[in-house]
Amino acid sequence: MRRKKHEPPPKEGLDEPFGPPPEEYLYRCTVCSTELLVHEAIIDAGIGMAKFRKEYYQGFMPQIGCPGCNGETMEYVDQDE
Ligand SMILES: [Zn+2]
Repeated sequence: MRRKKHEPPPKEGLDEPFGPPPEEYLYRCTVCSTELLVHEAIIDAGIGMAKFRKEYYQGFMPQIGCPGCNGETMEYVDQDE
């Protein structure tokens, strides 16, 4: 399994029980319950925006536009695996 993306710098004091995160994240719309796998590049862009707007915090996951609702109503679904 090859990895072509760069590794994020290690953060001290952060427990990472599952190793590297998946490259896609499950999102679900709070309005119409549409579920979508969102690529981490899109998440990274949203995090970049949040940092720019000083809204970023540890564990922040940006909201994503829903293809059904045409609004930013999709939220990250934390999965227990
Ligand atoms: Zn929706």
